[in-house]
Order: sequence, then C-alpha cells, then structure tokens
Amino acid sequence: MGSPPHVAVVAFPFSSHATKLLAVARALATAAPSAAISFLSTAASLDRLRASAAIPGNLRFVEVPTGLGKDDDDTPAWRRMELFVEAAEAGGLKQSLEVASAASPEASKVSCVVGDAFMSMAADAGVPWVAVWTGGPCALLAHLRGDALREDIGDQAASRGDELLTSHPGLGRFRVRDLPFGGPNASGDMHRVMDTLLKRMAQRLPVAATAVALNAFPGLFPPEISDALPNSLAIGPYHLLPGAAAPAAGDPHGCLAWLDCQPQRRSVVYVSFGTVAAPPPDELRELAAGLEATGAPFLWSLRRESWPLLPPGFMADKGGLVVPWAPQAAVLRHAAVGAFVAHSGWGSVVERMAGGVPMACRPFFGDQRMNARAVEEVWGFGMSFEDGRRPVTRGSVAEVVAALLAAGGEEGDRARELRAKVDEAFLPDGGSMNNFRKFVDIVCARA
Ligand code: UDP
Repeated sequence: MGSPPHVAVVAFPFSSHATKLLAVARALATAAPSAAISFLSTAASLDRLRASAAIPGNLRFVEVPTGLGKDDDDTPAWRRMELFVEAAEAGGLKQSLEVASAASPEASKVSCVVGDAFMSMAADAGVPWVAVWTGGPCALLAHLRGDALREDIGDQAASRGDELLTSHPGLGRFRVRDLPFGGPNASGDMHRVMDTLLKRMAQRLPVAATAVALNAFPGLFPPEISDALPNSLAIGPYHLLPGAAAPAAGDPHGCLAWLDCQPQRRSVVYVSFGTVAAPPPDELRELAAGLEATGAPFLWSLRRESWPLLPPGFMADKGGLVVPWAPQAAVLRHAAVGAFVAHSGWGSVVERMAGGVPMACRPFFGDQRMNARAVEEVWGFGMSFEDGRRPVTRGSVAEVVAALLAAGGEEGDRARELRAKVDEAFLPDGGSMNNFRKFVDIVCARA
C-alpha cells in the first residue's frame, strides 16, 4: 500500500479568510483521518488560529513567509498584503510546500494543494490545485466575467450605477453599483492590490483548478456559476461541515449566557461588521441612537478601538451588551436573536442563513454590495442601507430593526425557509454533504 495522501491547505492570512480555510481543513482532517493535512499560513495568523481552537491530530501547521522585513512593523495593511503575495508568487509558497513535504515523513510529498482562491499562485505548485472561494458566489461570477463587465461599463460606473446587469447571464438582478470592482469607490492602494490579485485569480481558476469549492449549498446561486466553472462544488456553509467547528471555540464575554437570560424569543438585535469593516464615527453614533430608540435588547460585537466613538453613557445600561468578540455562528442560532445588522460579509450571510434570522446589511467593500443586494432582492430575507436610498440614520436604523423584529414578517418567513434549506443540504444525503464527499475524493486522490 502506498503512503497516505498529503494535502496542503493554503490560507490567505488576512481578515477572516484563514479561519474559513481552517474550517475546511478541519472538516477534511475529520473526513479523511488517514490523510496528512498541512495548514500553511503566516506565523501571526497561525498563532491566532491556535488560540481559538484545538487542532486535530492529523493536521499540522506550517509557517509561510510574510514577505516583510524585520523593521516593517508599521507597514500599512495594503502593503503587507502586497508584500505577502509577491513573496508567495516569487517562490515562497513553493518553498513552504517543500518544507511541509519534508516535515511529514509518514505521508511523503504534498499530493494536492487546497488553497484559498486568492492564493492562485498555487496553480504552479506542480500538484493538483483545488481552490476554496470564501466570498459570495455571485461576486465570483462577476470576477470571472470581469473583462466583459469592464468592457461594457468602461468609465461609466457612476452614471450607470442603477442599471441592471441584464446583458450578463446570471447577474441580471444586480446593478452596476453592486459590482465588487469599478465605480467611484474603486480607488486607493488596497483596491489596486486586490484588483491585481482578483484578476489573476479569475484568469487561473477556470483553466488551472481541478475543482473549486463554494461556501454555499447547491441551488443557492444562479446556474451560470456552474457554467463558468463546471468543476465547482457547493459544499457550504463551510462552518457546518462535520468536524469544521472548533470544539474549544469559546465565549469569553459571556454572550450566550446573556442571550440565555433574555425572556423573549427572537427579541434581540445582534450587530457585527466582521473583522475588517469599520463604520465611520458619525454612522456608529447614528446606529447606537437607532438601536436605543427601538428599545430592543441588543448584542453588539464591536472592536475595542471603536468603543470611545459610542455616545457617552451608551456602554452603561441601554439594555444591551457590547463585546469585542462574539461566537457569531452560535449567536445567530440562538433562539433569543431576532435580527442581525451586519456588513454583509459572506461568512456572516451564510451564518445568518443557517441561523434563520432576517438581516439588515450595511455593505462597505469587495463582495459586500452584491451580497447585500442578494439578501434584499434575490432571497428577500433582509434590507439594505444605501446612500441616497436608505442612509444609516437613527430613524432608518430604528425603522429597519423594528420591521425585522416584527413577528411573521416576510423577511422572517424567507429567513426560516432558507434555514430549512441549509439543514436539508447537511442531511447525510443532502447536496452539500454529497459534494463534500466528492471534494474529499478529489483532494485525497493519488496520482
Ligand atoms: N466573527 C465572529 N465574532 C465576531 C465577529 C466576527 O465569530 O465578533 C466571525 C464571523 O462569524 C464570520 C467572520 O468572523 O465567520 C467574518 O466573516 P465575514 O465574511 O462575515 O466578514 P469579514 O470579516 O471577512 O469581512
């Protein structure tokens, strides 16, 4: 008998990407206990992941270079990303894969790379590359159709913002302004770095990836995605795959206990803008005032640096709990939670689907505008804040939150319907489970 498969899972060590890749890696380690799994990320990213979860025995962490010099502590986020990608493209990833191979004598060389789709240089690793897309599937379709969209829209993104993309199959329910690239906000260094990364990914994915995992269940997205990527496999939401959730993932600020004490079902508003997005100070104040005006209990996950921006006295006792971190997936499944205000990052959208609560979206960048549009217009389980139409003011926040909390609202029905579909996808013979078994067979196949 040959040696067991050795799968290298390559993370993109920024925002919440590595956490999502670790969920996939943990599920893989559980489904293929004889396989060796090497999980590649930067030292800082690995430290964060180690602190949050127990790691399965057949999963080993391997460090990849940051691309930073030793005096680069003050390097801005966009430049860190750029240096990291340059180092990985210039051979850093290949070297780390060799280190992973050498560190796993029981399983020999890496036989497959399962990599965040952002790390598309993995296509050149000399072994099959199975990509993992962590964002919204419709945004992936937009990236794959990027050349045609850019040719169509040119420099008219601002003047054609409200136009529906009806001549682009699969994207007809989205507007020009929802696209993850182009438009008036598409400027600055971070945008330039991301744009290069995503264009490269869109070129490589259709021709070089053996398979592409999607963080969605089959049927959630337009069939045109499968036309553009026939080898895509909807295996999500990733956090629900067996073994994906970390058993030791804690609740250091007592959010679940606080929710347990809430007397009414579906009465609490949960607020979170993910790991990167930060509403401007005036919006934070409006949001706080709007929450207060609803009189509903709220749980707000807000990074500590933003706490001083809240109105004086807000932290004291306004019927809510403000914490720097919440166990979000569990919070969204708690019976006391009735509405979710979020930036519509894809992780939050699918966790919310699994939780079955309606949501209000305040998108900022990347795929978030498309995700928000899908929540409101395609799936109908929430509403969006949008400059011009529904800006974030205390009045609109109070109105939207009250509407979402109202029992029997259409958004609530749609939210519960989608939750049932998620549950179905994870039955032993459900769509996501069937696709996950195919995914495991592909990544564990020996040449
Ligand atoms: N998250 C969490 N607790 C928090 C804030 C965020 O567990 O207090 C997790 C959330 O569950 C999700 C991820 O962080 O899995 C955020 O991912 P998303 O795609 O929504 O947004 P991003 O942070 O990538 O912008």
